[in-house]
Amino acid sequence: MKKILIVEDELPLRKNIKELLTRHGFTPLTASTLSEAAHYALTHKDIALFLLDVWLPDGDGFELCRRIRQNTLTPIIFLTACDDEESVVKGLNLGGDDYITKPFRTAELISRIQANLRRQESLNAVKILCSGDIRLDRRQCLASKSGAALSLGAVEYQLLLILMQNAGRIVKREQFMEKLWDASGKFAEDNTLSVNMSRLRKKIGTEYIETIRGFGYRFRQPVTESLE
Ligand code: CA
Repeated sequence: MKKILIVEDELPLRKNIKELLTRHGFTPLTASTLSEAAHYALTHKDIALFLLDVWLPDGDGFELCRRIRQNTLTPIIFLTACDDEESVVKGLNLGGDDYITKPFRTAELISRIQANLRRQESLNAVKILCSGDIRLDRRQCLASKSGAALSLGAVEYQLLLILMQNAGRIVKREQFMEKLWDASGKFAEDNTLSVNMSRLRKKIGTEYIETIRGFGYRFRQPVTESLE
C-alpha cells in the first residue's frame, strides 16, 4: 500500500484526509508541523506522495517543498486555502506537481492523487530512452552510442539515466547525490559527481549535458521514451 504523507496543522482536516486515504487503500502518515514533516521525509524513503498544507505553525509548505526537492522527485500536491495566482506559481516553480484549493471535494482529491501517482509510475515503466545517437536500455542497464555499447561505470550509467528521465529540466546536485546514495549504498562525495559527469560527457559526446553553474546539470537534447 502506498504511503502518503499528509502535512496539515488543522486537526479535524488532518483526521478527515487520513480516513479518506485509508478508505481508498493508501497508508497515510501525518505531520502537523514543518519540522515534523521534514523529519518524516528524511526517514521514510518510501513515501509515494506528499500532500502539503501551505500555512504551518513553524513555516510554510513552500519551504518544505524546497527541502523535499533537494532529495527526491516524489510527487508533491499543495493543499491550501491560498488560491491566489502568485502562491500557485510559487508552489509549482519550487517543484510542486499539483495544487488543490480548500475547500475541496474528496473525490477530486483522490483522483488528483491517483493521477499524480500514475504519472510517476509511467516514468518508472519506461524501458528505453533515446536521444540523437544515444540509446539507454533499462532492462539490460546498457547504454549505446550509434549502436555501439558504451562502457559506462555504475555511477555514470545512473547519471545518464537520471538526466535523460529529466530531459530539459535542471537536476540539482543534491538530487543526484541522493540517487547515487541509493544506487551504491554509500554516500557519494560531492567531487565524485563532478568527476563522473565529466567522464560521462567524454563518452557520450559534449552536446548532451549542460552544466548549470551553482545548481546542477541538464540534459539539453530531446528524449523519446518507449516501454519496450
Ligand atoms: Ca494550515
